[in-house]
Amino acid sequence: MNPLAVLRNTFGFDAFREPQEDIINALVAGQDALVLMPTGRGKSLCFQIPAIVRPGCGIVISPLIALMQNQTRALQQLGVRAAFLNSTLDPATAAGIEAALEAEELDLLYLAPERLTQARTLDLLRRSRISLFAIDEAHCVSQWGHDFRADYLQLDLLARDFPQVPRIALTATADARTQEDIALRLQLQDAQKYVVGFDRPNIRYQIALKQNPSKQLLQFLRREHQGDAGIVYCLSRKKTEDTASWLREQGFNALPYHAGLDPGTREANQDHFLQAEGVIIVATIAFGMGIDKPDVRFVAHLDLPKTIESYYQETGRAGRDGEPANAWMVYGLQDVIKLRQMLEGSEGSEEYKRIEQHRLNAMLGLCEITTCRRQALLAYFGEDSGPHCGHCDTCLYPVDTWDATEAARKALSTVYRTGQRFGVNHLVDVLLGKETEKIFQFDHHQLPVFGIGRELDANRWKSVFRQLVARGLLSVDLAGYGGLKLEEKCRPLLRGDETIALRQDVGQSGRTGKRLTKTPLDAHIDVGLWEALREKRRQLAEHQGVPPYVIFHDATLRAMAEEQPRTLEAFASLPGVGTRKLDKYGEAFLGVIADSGTA
Ligand code: ADP
Ligand code: ZN
Repeated sequence: MNPLAVLRNTFGFDAFREPQEDIINALVAGQDALVLMPTGRGKSLCFQIPAIVRPGCGIVISPLIALMQNQTRALQQLGVRAAFLNSTLDPATAAGIEAALEAEELDLLYLAPERLTQARTLDLLRRSRISLFAIDEAHCVSQWGHDFRADYLQLDLLARDFPQVPRIALTATADARTQEDIALRLQLQDAQKYVVGFDRPNIRYQIALKQNPSKQLLQFLRREHQGDAGIVYCLSRKKTEDTASWLREQGFNALPYHAGLDPGTREANQDHFLQAEGVIIVATIAFGMGIDKPDVRFVAHLDLPKTIESYYQETGRAGRDGEPANAWMVYGLQDVIKLRQMLEGSEGSEEYKRIEQHRLNAMLGLCEITTCRRQALLAYFGEDSGPHCGHCDTCLYPVDTWDATEAARKALSTVYRTGQRFGVNHLVDVLLGKETEKIFQFDHHQLPVFGIGRELDANRWKSVFRQLVARGLLSVDLAGYGGLKLEEKCRPLLRGDETIALRQDVGQSGRTGKRLTKTPLDAHIDVGLWEALREKRRQLAEHQGVPPYVIFHDATLRAMAEEQPRTLEAFASLPGVGTRKLDKYGEAFLGVIADSGTA
């Protein structure tokens, strides 16, 4: 069969996405490839189809043991002869799979890198017919990233020991340095490189000012994500537990996840999130790598990530199925102070801290910009982003700016006059001329700046300080209690050589308005039918012990509800319905559609 026929018959899709076809053809022709594609664009098909088309078995190297089972099950559902070998299998099952490999009865075999590099496995591979090697999550080979895996370094043996077998390395996260590393360490310098931009058009970015975070989260969930699966990220373990139990009290199916939970609970919570529908996981960043759940409808951050890279990776876990998804965050000055303190207190050289400080500043910049968030994100990754996106928060609710030159000067003078060691709350008290105990304790009522800022209220002053910190005119004293200090950068403003415009913070109530267009209730779909289809999918999934999306993705279910096919032939034309799934599930879902029509 040719690749297009496999795409249509086995996977049930009409056409390739750019540049899947080129990559597949290269591999089928025996060439190597290095693929950089954002999550959800369709990397898997790039090696699955050539593995099916070429004689022999494709070996997929993936660090994520927990995912192998679901991935192979999803392939088996399509009639692809797929299997995995890892430490979770009993010896008899593993032996059976090894025999199947030698007998050329497999199309795809998933292996962890530590398994592959065992002499025993290598012998087995040498005895077998291998169609290709796919190295998934290839950035794990790079020491620059957070996901470095020492076992990946040994994968250079593939080039040496199997020179005839084409290799493809794939990743969603690789800056220029990491790309070089991948090519070098996997001996892919001569491979054709395929780079698809970073853009995730189905994700909507929203960053709001942190006021009452729990309440803001609740509003967001109630308004946009009833019954949806999602991830809420927090900085501390305790906060994940508190937030999860609070969400449960509010009627959401929420579970905590962090490295301090006992392994049994942690695994059970993760499994529940992966297997059931509509579960919210409240997690530290320990949760994520290897979460290959396609129907995560939102990622919410209650605390600021340390870098734009982390932010993009974490938010990228939403909407892998290409359906609309939300990336939502609240942040405030306290986040900045906390992160800077953590950085300062961390191990690591001055050089390291300086670099991390820059990365944190870039993250702050993203929070404070008044222009399109998506453009800023893409620009950060060195990508020309085209026109503004039209559906991030700053595009939807353009931010007003105000001339804050005078206010900023007053704020900076107050920092200076009080000795560059007080935190925001006290500085605001000085500006407003509040007669607090602390004011009298330090004789701050005697200062010329005392009470010079009564034209603005406390919130507005806090906003000024936050933005001055975010822009690097002020820095936070990390040894103490968050006292603010002047930075070199504020001089021109103080001298009167510069003016400054700041963003007008939008109040909590200011941002109601457009909801995300979501599956499927906004799409003129018969809700009763949609729920009936979901229930059928749930039953089938439960019966086989697989997650519902392994039966059909939301996109397929939605097409079913929209088009309401009445015949197997019509059913076959739905996206994601190949011949095998047509046979297995066509009648069952047609039955649901017919019943709903007569009701
Ligand atoms: P990645 O590994 O890049 O994150 P996947 O391979 O998991 O992405 O694919 C993401 C989604 O896109 C899956 O639901 C997949 O079935 C779908 N998909 C991939 N290629 C196509 C295509 N050519 N046409 C339609 N859907 C596709
Ligand atoms: Zn935008």
